[in-house]
Amino acid sequence: MVGIATDMSILVLFSLFVSLACLSATHGRLDRVYKDELLSSAQQEKEWLVSIRRQIHENPELGFQEHNTSALIRQHLDQLGIPYSYPFAKTGIVAQIGSGSKPIVALRADMDALPLQELVEWEHRSKIDGKMHGCGHDAHTTMLLGAAKLLNQRKDKLKGTVRLLFQPAEEARAGASHMIKEGALGDSEAIFGMHVDFTILTGSIGLLSGPLLAATSIFEAKIEGVGGHAAGPHSAVDPILAASFVILALQQLTSRETDPLHSQVLSITYIRGGSAFNVIPSYVEFGGSLRSLTTEGLYKLQQRMKEVIKGQAAVHRCNAFIDMKEEEHPIYPAVINDDGLHQHAEKVSSLLFGPENVKKSKKVMAGEDFAFYQEKIPGYMSHVGIRNEKLGSIHVPHSPCFFLDEDVLPIGAALNTALAELYLNEHEHSVLDEAF
Ligand SMILES: [Zn+2]
Ligand SMILES: [Zn+2]
Repeated sequence: MVGIATDMSILVLFSLFVSLACLSATHGRLDRVYKDELLSSAQQEKEWLVSIRRQIHENPELGFQEHNTSALIRQHLDQLGIPYSYPFAKTGIVAQIGSGSKPIVALRADMDALPLQELVEWEHRSKIDGKMHGCGHDAHTTMLLGAAKLLNQRKDKLKGTVRLLFQPAEEARAGASHMIKEGALGDSEAIFGMHVDFTILTGSIGLLSGPLLAATSIFEAKIEGVGGHAAGPHSAVDPILAASFVILALQQLTSRETDPLHSQVLSITYIRGGSAFNVIPSYVEFGGSLRSLTTEGLYKLQQRMKEVIKGQAAVHRCNAFIDMKEEEHPIYPAVINDDGLHQHAEKVSSLLFGPENVKKSKKVMAGEDFAFYQEKIPGYMSHVGIRNEKLGSIHVPHSPCFFLDEDVLPIGAALNTALAELYLNEHEHSVLDEAF
């Protein structure tokens, strides 16, 4: 009896093993079919993508003025028969593809350019003096439009709904927060964004869980004393000396008051005061930028900065006035990538491009208004590599020499598509979920 039972167990285990192996082989095959189909559909659209990106690149528009860019996107959405709502935050668009029911996942691209003179000599350089797509937002917009086309081709297979957010004014003007206020997220339960990255090769994807980019804010300060003759400092109140002490004292905040393992930056980037050799001026102005890898850390740093400026100014008998300039430059929270979505992005990127092309992103103390979405729902920002030495796609964003390897366009379009489509597959709500 014992012998038979053991034989039976071995048989059961063996057939379980065989069916699991078959299942995973089927999965492997399905994965390969999915990947091949998606990547080849994306590659077929390359010419279309390149022409759209060049059109946007030649006609850069600054934050909240992206009227022609927005019109171009709407024209393509119309041609593709994709429904959308417009406007959000002046020029923004929200398109929707899929069943119309939950789960709903969002994809986001930014449309704005920079006040920068392009110094790259090429056929499709910016046609507008002093404006340039120097951060790759022309590529982000194109890749999202590419995803719209690919998702639309597969809309009958979607297990839920994808919302595509084309937003204005990422650069310093917090367009994302305006999109949110106007309801762009709808019932989305997660959001994915991407940014081109010149530090990793085209074909690679950079991913990181947790803090990725800093919370940022700017400030301006004025130290007011009493002007006078340089020969009689005792009858003046010197704001230059006071400002010098203030600026040195501010550096102690990051070196002495911040946990060394918790990254913060306080940079004074300009100082203006006086105009003659023999006159003590009546005031000095300076300003700069604050950054922290946590939003809470930024608020603390702001608070201490104000106290130090006022306190040091008072020591030198001066008055201090501080302006955080929040109207023109709202505070950006830190970009914190959700860990669950990180696992998903890792799986999807490995499937599409191979695990050898999935790299670990580096944290940077730059800001991104994608963080506003992440304050509302879990969000994830991926980096798509554009480094290509031969093409000269090697410059840091915001450089007038910034140049983009357009091979990234089908890659980003496919990644956007798969991130959303496979997210819906994994989060498909059952009839029971809906009932309860
Ligand atoms: Zn930028
Ligand atoms: Zn950017």
